[in-house]
Amino acid sequence: MKKHKGTLFVISAPSGTGKTTLVNAILSEKGQNEKIEQVVTYTTKKPRNGEINGKSYYFLTKDEFEAKIAQNFFLEWSDVYDNYYGSPRYALDKLTEGISQIAILDRTGAKAVKQIYPPSILIWIETPNIEELAKRLTKRASDSSESIIRRLALAIKEIEAEKVEQLYDYTIINDDFEKAKQALKSILFQRIDAEKTL
Ligand code: ADP
Repeated sequence: MKKHKGTLFVISAPSGTGKTTLVNAILSEKGQNEKIEQVVTYTTKKPRNGEINGKSYYFLTKDEFEAKIAQNFFLEWSDVYDNYYGSPRYALDKLTEGISQIAILDRTGAKAVKQIYPPSILIWIETPNIEELAKRLTKRASDSSESIIRRLALAIKEIEAEKVEQLYDYTIINDDFEKAKQALKSILFQRIDAEKTL
């Protein structure tokens, strides 16, 4: 079997927990020798303000996305609230090039990736409690109140699911941002350093 030099990290957290802010902060601070990047998700959703094609997401039409499904282009894909989201298989090729990958996925996607590629390291991020999550979603002000309620309901479901069936290798509580950032950083970089010395 081909030896993979990089690690595939999968990060999940209920919407509003702070995963995007944490990952962006870590990637913007990383040194040149730290070979790690985020997997850019393909989606049919409409871009939000400030979302750039190829950076935040690759935006595709429904037909384009379905053609890629047929070509077996995706490592995993899902259909959430009438939009497709998918991670490209080429993320695994990047690992062989020694570039670790961070995929931000929901629980279903994380489970699928772990099955397809068992060496993946799965990281779960939570807020200290659901009230704090509600506060952050409201503060972010990018969702309607209906969508906030839907996101909170999904968060409760995902938190319960992890209690019933432990899927993730690590859990981080994003209470104090700096502390959460250090915790995530040490998981990501310890792992990468360990791979280098193998
Ligand atoms: P996600 O990507 O998980 O949906 P975001 O990164 O968009 O979440 O963060 C949601 C909101 O919470 C943002 O307004 C962000 O600035 C804020 N936030 C993130 N981490 C913390 C923290 N530790 N304490 C308070 N607010 C936070």
